[in-house]
Amino acid sequence: MSLELIQNSLSHLKTYFGYDSFRKNQSEIIEHVLNKNDALVVMPTGGGKSMCFQLPALEFKGTTLVISPLIALMKDQVDGLKSNGIEADFFNSTQTPETQQIIKSKVANKELKLLYTAPESLSGLQEILNENYISCVAVDEAHCISSWGHDFRPSYQQLGFLKRSLPNTPVLALTATADKTTRKDILKQLSIPKAKVFLSSFDRENIFLEVRSASERMKQIENFLLKRKDEAGIVYSLSRKSTEKLAKDLTQKGFKAKAYHAGLDSETRSKIQEEFVYDKTQIICATVAFGMGIDKSNVRWVIHYNMPKNIESYYQEIGRSGRDGLTANALMFHSYADVIQYKRFIEDGKNKEVQEAKLERMKQFAEATSCRRRILLGYFGEHLTENCGFCDVCKNPPRFIDAKVIAQKALSAVARVKQKEPISVIIDILRGAKNAGIYDKGYQELKTFGIGTNISWKDWQHYILQLINLGYIEIAFHRKNALEFTPLAKKVLFENEQVWLTKPKADQPGFIESRKTTKTSNLFNQLKQLRMEISVEENIPPYLVFNDATLKEIERERPQSEQEFKSISGVNSLKAEKYADEFIYVIKLFNKKKRKKKVSTYDETYELYKGGKSIDEIAKERNLKSTTIVSHLCTLVAKGKPLDLSELVSNPELKMVENCLKSITHEGALKPIYEALDEKLSYEKIRLALAVLEK
Ligand code: ADP
Ligand code: ZN
Repeated sequence: MSLELIQNSLSHLKTYFGYDSFRKNQSEIIEHVLNKNDALVVMPTGGGKSMCFQLPALEFKGTTLVISPLIALMKDQVDGLKSNGIEADFFNSTQTPETQQIIKSKVANKELKLLYTAPESLSGLQEILNENYISCVAVDEAHCISSWGHDFRPSYQQLGFLKRSLPNTPVLALTATADKTTRKDILKQLSIPKAKVFLSSFDRENIFLEVRSASERMKQIENFLLKRKDEAGIVYSLSRKSTEKLAKDLTQKGFKAKAYHAGLDSETRSKIQEEFVYDKTQIICATVAFGMGIDKSNVRWVIHYNMPKNIESYYQEIGRSGRDGLTANALMFHSYADVIQYKRFIEDGKNKEVQEAKLERMKQFAEATSCRRRILLGYFGEHLTENCGFCDVCKNPPRFIDAKVIAQKALSAVARVKQKEPISVIIDILRGAKNAGIYDKGYQELKTFGIGTNISWKDWQHYILQLINLGYIEIAFHRKNALEFTPLAKKVLFENEQVWLTKPKADQPGFIESRKTTKTSNLFNQLKQLRMEISVEENIPPYLVFNDATLKEIERERPQSEQEFKSISGVNSLKAEKYADEFIYVIKLFNKKKRKKKVSTYDETYELYKGGKSIDEIAKERNLKSTTIVSHLCTLVAKGKPLDLSELVSNPELKMVENCLKSITHEGALKPIYEALDEKLSYEKIRLALAVLEK
């Protein structure tokens, strides 16, 4: 970018949006658009697409026309821009003719930087659709133009006329999903064949990917949520009924949860959506219908109660979390029942082969024993060279065991029932279950009955499902899901072939993310409370006041002046002016309370020691053991407090310990040192010496 352009854009970026730098790709795209070139931007959700036209809009003289498919989204975006002090509005069929006229004259008077509209409403804008008024055209959700895309909208197909009637105006198409064919189609249909295509990585690095077995799903979800008491999230499930049941169960457990599905009337649906956007409802239990029309940046987690039917849907749905760039969790439950149900659907539907192949890829992702992100991105043709380190498999890699005997037992049970029984009966036989189902058929007489009592029901399930995944057994969907052999099975049974299976993971639901979640502090909650009050006052969603990332930075930096407040990422000039005082007040109050309530025990020792008191004197005064005071001093030294310990442990003594460490390993224990020094130095002195030396 030319220096002047860069400086101008950067200064506008801070003044209007509160950010200090552009993200990867953004500056390139913005320069390209400012030079009046056409572009197609393919960037994942949360990548910062809007900035690519919102910032240039500020630099252009006229209005940037933004085509967007959803009226609900338009309002949010316009509210967000207005709250940043940018002149923006939308134009659509819900407005009165008077309002529409006012908006058009605003464009004619160059009073609007951005105008949002839907393709259907363009005909109403004829008078202003010329290059005196329009400086740039942005087509959001551009994949809607292509019948190859997954969300085709016929109204998008007329948009080619825009370039034809505004030939010198840059057209910017934006989307989060577009394969090669769709990309070509977009360029063709928008009449911008020479547009430069900007492809960003599809990796959503801040989303932790995790898949768990579906057993006791509800309990697992409850545990997961108990650690996320006020974090917003979405539970996706397959049927209307299950969303209702989930919402009911979660409500009973004390969470604020609502069901959302296509069976509700549109008024109810928008109300539920709004309550979620305004942080009044924490959890939405939804069918896939939910999420298209919202921009909420602080969705912290997504749970898939059922496995999605393909990787595209999975990617899109998890993508609704973590748009603010902070860590988010995507937790998917995997059960065979879901797979079986999908297979039935597919059987009756159109396009059978494609759907089956897609389901198969989804299943492979769910059952992966290697980095999930590599599999996910690989599906979209993007190949990571390393494991991500931020998925359940990377964090907790599976261990393989020699499972020949296990496999042989399972396969012989299948053989003994003549390949006529489903997985549950096979496991009952292996475990020697004494239930009616077994006795009615006389299975207790089989040779294999009870040969696997040492393995739990769940673990058997884990092993047998792997045998299915690895192709030793198949589920015969048309014979009541009976397990049957593949040719591979015979090799294990009769040729003694080796089998390696993964060990079941210890049943500790949630142990991974419990290490990840940081406790929300008191201050953070108070800042959130203030954000909520401002949101109500100004009638905009809380995340549009400040997003979570900005709030976190305020918590960390604790600005004390408007100047400091303004330096926070996400705080622009207008918001600094409007809100600095209130936020600083909350911070100061918090700091004051903290100081009064809690002088740390270490600091108390520190002050007394600096005041010239001995260890014993301090111990006496504080009613603590002298060893405790010594450990305080050690901690203080380790924390880098300026403390002179030479009266307690002299230089020669330090040297003694230092030399001793060269010849022995003590692994944190004091005794080896004590003994190596022939008990010449007290434990106390050794501890202090170690603290000083380690510093
Ligand atoms: P997309 O439309 O690609 O899904 P958005 O435009 O909604 O993404 O941007 C996602 C989030 O990233 C928003 O909260 C936005 O304010 C923020 N963002 C955009 N650009 C930057 C930037 N340069 N620095 C910091 N945050 C940014
Ligand atoms: Zn990984």
